[in-house]
Amino acid sequence: MRSLKKIGEFGLIGTIKKSAHIEKEVIKGIGDDTAVLPLDKKRNLLLTTDMLVEGVHFSVKENRKLVGRKALAVSISDIAAMGGVPKFAVVSIGIPNSACERGIKDIYEGLSRIAKEFGVSVVGGDTVQSKKLVINVALTGESGKKDIVLRSGAKPDDVVFVTGALGQSLKTKKHLKFIPRLAHAQYLVKCFKPSAMIDISDGLSSDLAHVLNESKVGAVIDEKAIPRAKGATVAQALSDGEDFELVFTLPKKEAEFFRRQKKFKVYEIGIIVQKKKGFMLRDSKGKLNKIIRKGYGHF
Ligand SMILES: [Mg+2]
Repeated sequence: MRSLKKIGEFGLIGTIKKSAHIEKEVIKGIGDDTAVLPLDKKRNLLLTTDMLVEGVHFSVKENRKLVGRKALAVSISDIAAMGGVPKFAVVSIGIPNSACERGIKDIYEGLSRIAKEFGVSVVGGDTVQSKKLVINVALTGESGKKDIVLRSGAKPDDVVFVTGALGQSLKTKKHLKFIPRLAHAQYLVKCFKPSAMIDISDGLSSDLAHVLNESKVGAVIDEKAIPRAKGATVAQALSDGEDFELVFTLPKKEAEFFRRQKKFKVYEIGIIVQKKKGFMLRDSKGKLNKIIRKGYGHF
């Protein structure tokens, strides 16, 4: 057996995917921002889960209301990335013996506040004792069958866009305070036809690489077009992660209409190319350099 460090997070997901049992009715299982399941003739059911662990995703000293907020916000972001709207959540929490009631109350208060903002009902969960504070949220969503956007639909000549500035989200606390891009995503799926979409959790280079792999295409990204958070370097914008902006692709014709829209500020960062051309960054001198995926890895 190989160690987790050697195979990495995505190797591990691949191993789990191979052994996961699924019935025929599953539309999309492991390998996108959420699972896509049958609901009725017009709609899909979306399902996603995320776990936050003290010391890994937030520090021991972190404001508990913001921790609770993030626990749900990351899942809302995943539902948005599929073109869906969030609906029902169950929240499980592992609590150390030393924790006090106040801290736990604050976590649920932060979580409830963002739930209300996004129309999510918290309908159940579990509480257990654990060594470290752990919060797990499972969230359902719905999408119109026509609205669903997978990672696998990008085609050569599609244009790549991103919804906001990237990099240094841990330093700026954006990773705790970000607003899930649900409004952007809903506008996109209702008025345009994005061919692929993902939210940036592990870093632009890493998450866009998922789109490229699933779509079997390459991309050329313009270094100077990448929107950077104040003070962030290009390398940080490419690989810091936890930005929770959306990256999406639009067919050339759709992109022409989309450029005229004034509803949201978005950034055009590059173009999809054939797979054999690879995943490249065009620097300020016009030179193409291979992008090496350096996003956040959990193992
Ligand atoms: Mg995601």
